[in-house]
Parts: sequence; C-alpha cells; structure tokens
Amino acid sequence: MTKQSFDYFHGLFGIRYPFGDYDQVFVPEFNAGAMENPGCVVLRDQYIFRGAATQDELLTRANTVSHEMSHMWFGDLVTMKWWDDLWLNESFAEYMSHRCLVDATQYSEAWVDSSIERKVWGYGAERSPSTHPVAGVEALDAISALQNFDGISYAKGAAALRQLIAYVGDDRFIAGVRTYLTDKAYGNGTLADFLAAIEAASGRDLGGWAKAWLLTADRDTLRVDLAEADGRVTAATLTRQAPHDHPADRPHALDVAGWTDGTETARVATTIGSPEVSLDGLVGTAAPDVLVPNASDLTWARIVLSGKTIHALPGQLGEVADAQARAVVWSSLIDGLHLADVAPATLLDVFEGAWTSETNSSILTRMAAYAEQVVVGVFLPREERPAARERLARCGQALLDTAERGSTSSLAAARLVAGTSADEELLHGWASGHGLPAGLEDDGDFRWIVVRNLARRGALSDADIESFRAADDTLQGSLNALMCRASRPDPEAKAWAWEQLTGRNGRSNYEMNHLARGFWAAPSDDLVEPYVARYFVEVPAMSAWVGEDALSRVVTLGFPQVHTAETARLSAQTLERDDLTPAVRRSLVDADADLREVLASRAAFRAGA
Ligand SMILES: [Zn+2]
Repeated sequence: MTKQSFDYFHGLFGIRYPFGDYDQVFVPEFNAGAMENPGCVVLRDQYIFRGAATQDELLTRANTVSHEMSHMWFGDLVTMKWWDDLWLNESFAEYMSHRCLVDATQYSEAWVDSSIERKVWGYGAERSPSTHPVAGVEALDAISALQNFDGISYAKGAAALRQLIAYVGDDRFIAGVRTYLTDKAYGNGTLADFLAAIEAASGRDLGGWAKAWLLTADRDTLRVDLAEADGRVTAATLTRQAPHDHPADRPHALDVAGWTDGTETARVATTIGSPEVSLDGLVGTAAPDVLVPNASDLTWARIVLSGKTIHALPGQLGEVADAQARAVVWSSLIDGLHLADVAPATLLDVFEGAWTSETNSSILTRMAAYAEQVVVGVFLPREERPAARERLARCGQALLDTAERGSTSSLAAARLVAGTSADEELLHGWASGHGLPAGLEDDGDFRWIVVRNLARRGALSDADIESFRAADDTLQGSLNALMCRASRPDPEAKAWAWEQLTGRNGRSNYEMNHLARGFWAAPSDDLVEPYVARYFVEVPAMSAWVGEDALSRVVTLGFPQVHTAETARLSAQTLERDDLTPAVRRSLVDADADLREVLASRAAFRAGA
C-alpha cells in the first residue's frame, strides 16, 4: 500500500515526495486514527491486527496509510494558512486516499466503504445543530478548531470535491491542484488560493459554486417521483429541496437507477441546478420496484426513497447487483431512522431480508454492527432488545452455516452471533475455545466479543472476567476486561465502574473510553437510572484533570443511554451552563441531538404501544 500510494501520488501531483525518508510508526493508545508528521506518520496500533481481519478492516487500514501519505502534499508541503481552512487538509486527504485505493490498489470498492461508513458519519454530523460549512468557519484558536475534525470536514468535504470535479472536469481539477501545490510549496494556502487555481485551469467562475457547496451548512433533500401506467414510467421528476434554515442553490451531478427482481430497468445520469428537473430518460422504461436516486453516490444529500421502494427492499435489495447502490439504500435508511422517517422495525425487516446475501464486505460488517449497536442497542426500548438480538443472531447463524470457512462473510457472521446470541452454552463453549468457527481459533479479539455478551447477560463474575484477562495479558485484554466488568448487570459493578470512570484514578484515555462503553449496558433502565443526573454534574467536572480531546470522547461514549424526557431535560439544562469547556459543550450538543432523535423515533413509531 505504501509503495502503491507513493507511485500514485507522485504521478497524480507531478511532484516527488518532498521529505526524504518515510516511516510509519504504530503507537499504543494513540488517540487519533493517525497523524501525518512529515516523514514520520504515527498510527494507532490496532491497525496491526492480532486476529482475523475482514476485507473492510484491511481496506480501512489501507485507506489510513494512503490518507496520511496524501497529507505529505496536502497539509505538509502546502499547509492551510489557518484552521479556518482545515478542509484543505482533511477533505483533500479523504478524497485522495479513496481515489488512490480505487485507481491503484486491490481495494476497488473504496467508495462503497465511504458511502456506508464515512458518509454515514458525515450525515450524522449534518443532522446535529453543531453542523457547519465545509470551509470558512472562523476558528478563534486551536482548541476550538479541534472541534471541527468531524464528518463535515472529512466526508462532506470529499463529496463536495467530487461534485467540483463533476462541475469542472477531472483533467482541469488535477491541473489546478498541481498549480496550487507548486505555487504554494513550502508555504501556506487558503480557500481563495485554491479556488483561483481551479478557476484558472477550468476557465470557470467558482464564486457561486463555492458559496453554495463550501460556505453554506447543511444539505439538500433529493427525491424522485414516478408516475406509472401499465407497468411503464410515464413521468419522472427529480426534486431538490434546500434546508429551510440554510438556503442555498447547489448544483448536483448524480445518477438515478431502478431495479426489479435484480434486473436493472434503467439508469440515467443528470444534473440538477433548480428545484426540479424531469428525468426524460426514465420515461417509457419498465416501472422499477426499487428506485435509487444518487445510485453511484456522487453527491451529498438526504436521499429519500419512495414508499414502493422501501416496501420492496426486504425481498429485493439482496438481488441488486450494484454494491454502490445498495450502500446508498442502506445509508438512506439509516438517515431515515435518525430522522424518524423510517421505523426501526422497517430497517430490521430489510436487514433480515437482505443481509445474509450481502457480498460487499463493508456493507456486511458495517450494517451488522449498526443493526446490533444502534438500531437494536439504542433505538429499540430495552424490553424489545432481547427478542431483536435473537433475530439478529438467527441471521448471523444462517450466514455462518453457508459462508465459506474463514472468509470475511464467515467472520462477520460469527461476530454477529457472538454479540447477539442468547445461547449461553454456545457462548461459554466459544469463550473457552470449543467449537469455534474456522479462522477464529485463539483469536483474542473475537473471544472478547463473546465474553462481553456473557458479561452483559450476567453470566460472568468479576473473577471470571479476570481469568479471561489473565489469558490475554495484553493492553487490549485489559481494556476489554474493563468494558466487560462495567457491562455486568449488577449494582456493585455499576458503582465500581462509575467510580473508576469519574474519580481521579489515573485511568488512561483508552481505559476511560472502555469503562464508558460498557457502563450503560443493562437489562432495564432501573439499574443505571441513578447515574443519569450524576453524569451531567460529574463528567463536565472532569475537565479539572482530563484533557479536552480525551474528555470529549468520555462525554460522547458515557452519555446516558436512558432515553427519557427527564434525561433530555437534564441535558438541556446542562447546555445552559456557561462554564462548559468547548470540547465538552460540542460533544454534549451532539449527544443531546442523538437523544432527541431516539425520542422522536419512539414518539413516531410507538404511539399506540
Ligand atoms: Zn487527515
């Protein structure tokens, strides 16, 4: 990957790697994913896999290697003048690494991974009140700038660059990039410098484009409405709606495709620069059961699927051969879940219908994790989770029974079973090394998934967990043991974990994160409810001894998973305080928005329950 990326970036930018030698150092408990120091990139040591890894995990590591290397040009050879142009670092590295993976390596489905992982992250950031424009956000100091290393600066910025390329043409874009990197080498650049270089190369005025795409927050909603008669499309309209609070006139380049029973019925490429355009290329084609706006995921928008499409998905999504379009469908469903447009039950129905036939590694593993941890683990009320977990476990088992031994599918299936199964005999067997699926023998990371499920179910004592830690006497082993102890459904375990998390115990950042991850696991709210009010007092107070970046993660991971009006009231009250540090405030704003999404979903879909 390192060699391939070097060759690719040298060729693309026309500038040799500028810093002599190049080291990549894997660092225990590194807080970020990686850091692009010139000539000496540091990466988190979890990227050195100690057990079985899925294809998407390999892709993610390759992407990080390539991302950091692209910073040698975007960030290190030419550095943004000030943090206001953070996007000149991160959006470019995000875009360039995916481009490199697709063009120069075996990871040709990197944009699919972007759709189901990076853009899902970015759309979440866009839904929060903390959303901001890609560029031109005033950064008063470095600490406030740090809050914007988020899904907007990475994923949305990269999507905006893909739209810029569609707008001016790839050759002209690259020519402008080369000029910018050459003119500003060993110096600083700004948004104005970059736009001037692209304008000179393309001969186009980018003032309006940049205002809409880079300097205005939030996103448009895109949908396609079809009129049908006798099984044929008689009219097709693509509509673009700008958000009320952030009006903008964004041009989009995208395509729209349809399928019925796995057969692609039509695909049209189009641009939209007005509230609506008619898609004449679809008229006269067979009316599809599944219609996917933005099927190649070129643009950045809330994509609304039709009711007919959603109805058809459980039976037909698995037959759509285009992985990129399937990722767009899943991303749209996730967006809909968070916006209370799509019921959790609908998403689980599609999962049950389509997941076991999924062939793309990124969709397979990301959607399994999303279904388990977010759809079931957050959106469903606690009393509905055991049955839903068993349903997921059945999906996992069905795939495990048929997948090629040791393959990514088999590994993803085994992980889903390990995390969701209620079969304690099976789980105890796996935990002690008996009957493990092929490729997972002596895999410490897999064992901890099993142990965590058992711990959460109340099937393990602290001494049991300690014996698993002793058998895996590593940094990862001790971190996982903390998470498992915090997960136990026992008042004493919760009291211990809370004190370890919020007291001055010299816990490392990673230890605090793992305690926070485990803490809110409970069969009912009663067990953890006493800690809701304590969270809003005790966690912000930790800024007296925990650094900003580290504490922001504790705020996020430790936010009360008790989704009630009372939690929302306490959260709103806390945000009224004027003594919160910038990182605590930002993480609380985002977590508060997540809580309100869950409450809205339950209000929408459990009215009669
Ligand atoms: Zn970066």
